[in-house]
Amino acid sequence: MKSRPSILQMLPKIDRKTYAPFLERLKIIYSAMDKKYQEAADYYNFHCTGCDDNCCFTRFYHHTLLEYFYIREGYHTLVNEKKVEVKHKALEICRKTREADEKGVPVRLMCPLNVNNLCLIYTYRPMICRLHGIPHVLQRPGQGVLYAEGCEVFTEQCQGKERFEFDRTPFYIEMAELEKELKQAVGMTQKIKMTVAQMLATF
Ligand code: SF4
Repeated sequence: MKSRPSILQMLPKIDRKTYAPFLERLKIIYSAMDKKYQEAADYYNFHCTGCDDNCCFTRFYHHTLLEYFYIREGYHTLVNEKKVEVKHKALEICRKTREADEKGVPVRLMCPLNVNNLCLIYTYRPMICRLHGIPHVLQRPGQGVLYAEGCEVFTEQCQGKERFEFDRTPFYIEMAELEKELKQAVGMTQKIKMTVAQMLATF
């Protein structure tokens, strides 16, 4: 029996013409997300100017092919020298993370795209980087409603203010539907779970 190709074998073979229209639709979802986030930030008068506990240190996993391709678009806007630098950092981070995991020790490494507290591909950053920091609500099918708190800086800056209803659910639903369509279009059934560093290492 023929074994199913791995995600890493499939990704380079997917033609840009197939996924480009999906990225246009992703931009619309991101734009609505950014608008809602800004509304909430304005309500709280919350300003993220970077902090010691930078969320770019967090090992976030991303689960969509959409985000993989959009981050790749962002990566290709960088000049060659920067691309080489970022890819080198990404490979190092993957190696250090693997080694730490094997030893069972915690590891805290900055995302390879963060330079001097700025994201090199800010316009192309994935969903969680757009939404992190502000308290939100998530309606999970069959599991009830999750009320999540904001980040530490948010709590310091904005505690005591009445909660703004920031519901992530419609964005998660739209992303999931678009992702499903994209996966059907490219014939992929495998699940994705990758950090930004792991993605960059494949570019
Ligand atoms: S993609 Fe950009 S915003 Fe997201 S963790 Fe990396 S540097 Fe930070």
